[in-house]
Amino acid sequence: MLTNYLYKLQPNVTQTAEMVRWIDMLRSHYNWCLNDRISQYYQQFIQGDYCDIRTKAEACPITCFVSKNGASGEPWKQDNQNTVVPMGEYCLLPYDLNNLPYSGKTPRRSVGDIQITALPVLKVARPWYADIDSTVLQQNVKRLDTAYENFFEGKGFPKFKNRSNFTSFTYQAGVKVSGNKIYLSKLGWMRFHDSRPIPPGFVIKAATVRKRQDGWYISVRIEDKTVPDYVPKPLSEVNKVIGCDLGIVKLVHLSDGHQIDNPKIATNKKTRRMLKVRQRRVSRKKKNSNNQKKASRAVGRLYKKITDKRQAYQWNIANEIVSRNVDAIGVENLNIAGMLKRCKVKVDVNEVCPKGESTGRFLPNGQSRKKHLNRAISDASWNELILKIEYLTVKRGKVLVKINPKNSSIECRNCGHTDKSNRDKEKFLCSQCGFYEHADIGAAKTIRDRVIELIEYQKVHGDCVEPADKTAKRPKKRKEKSARSTLSKRVEPGNPKSKGENPETGIQEDIA
Ligand SMILES: [Zn+2]
Repeated sequence: MLTNYLYKLQPNVTQTAEMVRWIDMLRSHYNWCLNDRISQYYQQFIQGDYCDIRTKAEACPITCFVSKNGASGEPWKQDNQNTVVPMGEYCLLPYDLNNLPYSGKTPRRSVGDIQITALPVLKVARPWYADIDSTVLQQNVKRLDTAYENFFEGKGFPKFKNRSNFTSFTYQAGVKVSGNKIYLSKLGWMRFHDSRPIPPGFVIKAATVRKRQDGWYISVRIEDKTVPDYVPKPLSEVNKVIGCDLGIVKLVHLSDGHQIDNPKIATNKKTRRMLKVRQRRVSRKKKNSNNQKKASRAVGRLYKKITDKRQAYQWNIANEIVSRNVDAIGVENLNIAGMLKRCKVKVDVNEVCPKGESTGRFLPNGQSRKKHLNRAISDASWNELILKIEYLTVKRGKVLVKINPKNSSIECRNCGHTDKSNRDKEKFLCSQCGFYEHADIGAAKTIRDRVIELIEYQKVHGDCVEPADKTAKRPKKRKEKSARSTLSKRVEPGNPKSKGENPETGIQEDIA
């Protein structure tokens, strides 16, 4: 089993200064690597992906595909090869064209691999990078790899990092714990709040050090292969189900009629006022002064406190929900990003200026009203709550079922009549049969019934089949034009990565 334990660190002054320095250097390295990948992509985009080794054209760093990965070095994964290209050399010169130092089997190395092997060169050129632990530097490149992987799955393109969004680094090895001290390579033994003991048998796999508003934290990844992972119950063994409807006025409505308050931690009157006062203090100080920095740290601490309070509250109620005597918990499958969208812009087309064109003046579109709703939705952070419920259900061998919540609060539970007029805030009164109840508890019951329906369906049709869920978000397809790294597959005649199979030999085509 693999889990993470979070501790607060107590670094001394030297260690704090060193960690701040590391983060600055690592951020700069991250940005450099990202820029390197972007520029090599555009080079390839303009030049085409042809290979100098094949065409035997004159070698030039711009036209050679190896140098396009910027970081230079050996382009192939070395498994059984003994040819080593000196680091920092562009590719073509050390190669003998008639005696190519690779076989068709050796895969080309990814950008991440090349950037990792270029790290020694970096340490020679910029000796201060040698102060950082080598696994930390490697993980920094891997972090960019992950960002690219997310991008290929349809999330946003990796961003250049600044001081506010780059605050952590990861160790892959060399972390030891003894008493209330933790050993971090190149930083030395550091004191930490030993708030929970690492269970016996667990080995430290990795550790991420993170700077937060009130100090430094470390998240230790521990593993014990002899302890089995939590396995959720199969749906066919589920008998009792509870439905949850998430809301703003009350945070959770359960299908057994129980309601859980929403403390509105970030949007209640007191916190809002406190935030306003502290932010005003920042804006009234002289720009870039130490006093302004001090004041903005106070704002940061307040935000941290809000987050911590919310986390604690959510763990509490998640525990309360999960510890009910049920086998499965049904929640809504919400598209929160969609809910948080801004209102569409309304342009006045009737008002015309003397030239006959529209003035392009904007009309009220209700955004100022929606703003407060959006803040309330963000404050409730339903997704975070669902994640916690999911974790706890799995931990206790129960199941979490996400269900399409469409029309769950306007559908009559007596006659099935579905209409918006059925509902007036929390009151539900069917306009056809006169059935009435609390709208959100009704919705929770509807969710429960849908989960039961799904389970019955699966009991009949087998576990693998599910009724089509139209709300499930599909990953968007990216346009070809958007920037890609060499991780993407590009089939070009000159690219040895393209798996052109020779029909005669059946062997992967090599470069002749
Ligand atoms: Zn009805």
